[in-house]
Amino acid sequence: MRISAEIEQCVLEVLKTGKLAQGDTVKKLEFAFSQTSKTKHSVAVNNGTTALVAALESVDIGENDEVIIPAFTFVATLNAVLLRGARARIVDVRDDYLLDVEQLSVLDTSSTACVMPVHLYGQMCDMKRINEISENSSGFTTVEDAAQALGSERDDLRPGAHGLACYSLYATKNVFSGEGGMICTNNHEAADYLRILRNQGMRARYDYQHIGNNYRMSEIHAAVALPQMALLETITNQRAEIARRYTENLRGLAGLLIPTVHEETRHSWHQYTIRITSDAPFERDEFVQQMRESGIDVGVYYPRSVHDYDIFREHPQIVVESDDLARKIASEVVSLPVHQHLTAANVERVIETVHELWHR
Ligand SMILES: *Cc1c(COP(=O)(O)O)cnc(C)c1O
Repeated sequence: MRISAEIEQCVLEVLKTGKLAQGDTVKKLEFAFSQTSKTKHSVAVNNGTTALVAALESVDIGENDEVIIPAFTFVATLNAVLLRGARARIVDVRDDYLLDVEQLSVLDTSSTACVMPVHLYGQMCDMKRINEISENSSGFTTVEDAAQALGSERDDLRPGAHGLACYSLYATKNVFSGEGGMICTNNHEAADYLRILRNQGMRARYDYQHIGNNYRMSEIHAAVALPQMALLETITNQRAEIARRYTENLRGLAGLLIPTVHEETRHSWHQYTIRITSDAPFERDEFVQQMRESGIDVGVYYPRSVHDYDIFREHPQIVVESDDLARKIASEVVSLPVHQHLTAANVERVIETVHELWHR
């Protein structure tokens, strides 16, 4: 990641104050997140995984509660549920890589306490529909894994409009602090609980309300992220422009599926992820190898469905509802470089290299 002069400046200012924790910079970052997410509250924590675990705790999700998660996501989503002692009920995704909301609507969710939609690669799940399903059922809460989706919107909803949304500021995210996380919500009680939880369970000094932990973000981390928040719109637009050029130029190659983007969606393009299907002239892994040999930094996120590992296979807290498409997708996905520092020539070369591989 590139560190701008502005970031350097902001970090240096914090260092010069000598106040490296519990100062104003974290508060400013929280304010910037509340503005972006249009939520009343933002609570900074030390990473995105902590954000997920703490968010679940703040809405009282714990032992024996059932939490629905998608079969295709980063392991942190699953770990957060398991760490809370809850049961993870795994539901398949669709071709847009997102939780299958149609399936959710026909499942018996009478014992579901929480649904964790993951806005994978930066495209939001259909939160409007998920909220409707919640209203028409026993009423589960939602904790959105928005780690990749800062700047996203769908149907005029941003993550955290209902329930809670968790962001990550890990070094590779669109806006980063190195390590960091944020929880955005309009739920006053949950936000209040989280502010206390992250600080040893204290409301005021030595006024312990419940068992807490130290989940606080440092001032230095906040100073890395803060200047980027003002540029979020620009960063997102630059990524969207690169994505547009890929889509325009890669459409129509046999066995290469470009990403499905919904209408009324603002995609944050954390990743531009294509699929290499059996109609392609080669398999995904060969494509990855060829691209890397040409010096193009492609990635596979993620090579398996989330629970498809030995330690999770017979896990008593995991129930697999469906995962067929997730397994297939995991064997086909490749993400092309889409970050805002790519030049037009870089993007051109990615497109040319793909075409060369196809027409060899
Ligand atoms: C990055 C990420 C996380 C975890 O965030 P950390 O800050 O690395 O703990 C969780 N879920 C998804 C989908 C992510 O991409």
